[in-house]
Amino acid sequence: EVRVRFAPSPTGNLHVGGARTALFNYLFARSQGGKFVLRIEDTDLERSTRKSEEAMLNDLSWLGLDWDEGPGVGGEYGPYRQSERNSMYKEYAEKLLESGTVYKCFCSNEELEQMKETAKRLQLPPVYTGKWGTAPDKEIQEELAKGTPYTYRFRVPKEGILKITDLIRGEVSWNLDTLGDFVIMRSNGQPVYNFCVTVDDATMRISHVIRAEEHLPNTLRQALIYKALGFPMPSFAHVSLILAPDRSKLSKRHGATSVGQFRDMGYLPQAMVNYLALLGWGDGTENEFFTINQLVEKFSISRVNKSGAIFDGTKLRWMNGQHLRSLPPEELISIFRDRWKSTGILLEYDGAFVKGATELLKDAIELVSDAEKALQNLLSYPLHSTLVSDECKPVVQDKLSEVAASLISAYESGELRQALEEGHAGWQKWVKSFGKSLKRKGKSLFMPIRVLLTGKLHGPDMGGSIILIHKAGTCGAISPQAG
Ligand code: GLU
Repeated sequence: EVRVRFAPSPTGNLHVGGARTALFNYLFARSQGGKFVLRIEDTDLERSTRKSEEAMLNDLSWLGLDWDEGPGVGGEYGPYRQSERNSMYKEYAEKLLESGTVYKCFCSNEELEQMKETAKRLQLPPVYTGKWGTAPDKEIQEELAKGTPYTYRFRVPKEGILKITDLIRGEVSWNLDTLGDFVIMRSNGQPVYNFCVTVDDATMRISHVIRAEEHLPNTLRQALIYKALGFPMPSFAHVSLILAPDRSKLSKRHGATSVGQFRDMGYLPQAMVNYLALLGWGDGTENEFFTINQLVEKFSISRVNKSGAIFDGTKLRWMNGQHLRSLPPEELISIFRDRWKSTGILLEYDGAFVKGATELLKDAIELVSDAEKALQNLLSYPLHSTLVSDECKPVVQDKLSEVAASLISAYESGELRQALEEGHAGWQKWVKSFGKSLKRKGKSLFMPIRVLLTGKLHGPDMGGSIILIHKAGTCGAISPQAG
């Protein structure tokens, strides 16, 4: 049975890297009819918080990555928080002690420091050279009687090679002679991270460990612990880093990196999921637009790329536009309605206005928040030739004053407003006769009108824009800020 897990440490926000790891696990589980387990790795008690855990769960749910076992859901291999599994770690540590794979080490910090320094001086790997792995029982009993603190140290074979086959990176091997015996439980009884992860993955019956490349070095210790515990080894798949466009590690200085930030900026979860899936994966065709169900259908680990994936914010933005436009119209309308109500741009709800605005603006935007700017822009009509920007002037200059004067007078006399009451047909009829009276048509007519109304050379459909501006003025949905 396929069982995978996402195991975040609740010490901050869910970042795009973590979200992608979660997504790959989710897609693999769903595509294989397996289980997706969520485990909280909160052994670092100082840095872990419940607040961060809640936020991460919330972000995962928002992305639609629902887990089959874990916090809030339960499951037969729980508890799913490491802080609640201490007795289990102890139990397995004792087992390893009994079997002799682990021994009690009474070395003081000073002794350990000295070992390190000696190794450094002799340019040897910093491996444990203490005596406790082979000390006679009598000496051990003496230290115990004295109450000397001790750690549990794992006995590593002195030579040999450990090999794993990584599903993404192929064969990975380590020389054991550079590792040295390592601690699995501190003198205060706290198990160390690699030991917890292994006990958890083993006892939770995880079949595939899919995680970030940065955990590859941990796999050596974990594999040794697996063997010692006698559990079958899972398959490993280490996913490459996400890089910034300059190929450095993606970080805050490159802009938004957490899922919550993107949500607050108005990104759709569908677009996030689609884009994250493309960071290191593709279905082998040119196609880049996928719903989550399509991803489940197409995903396979063998198509996950070995090299680092570049996080391209512009592409994510573009993709968001694609997903926005593919929503059912009613859904898009209600997204805009809720958003404009909450941002205060809608003074009064007017269904026809929101519908008209949605239809008019949807092709010109990528983020939900782009629509506010477009709308404000549209409704802050200058209607005055002196307010036309420098950028527009050369294009409309010679025609502007004439068109402006006639347009303003048509608007003020009520003639244009009346025509607009009849919607598109009214507008078209009016603009035709308006053009005739000025002996203008096509660009030389529409460009100046557009510039006068919107201050821009390009924008959404002209008739739709004018009707919307008119509607905004009459229904009071939005107060136009006259330029
Ligand atoms: N808790 C680790 C992290 O947040 C993940 C460990 C793992 O996947 O093995 O990076």
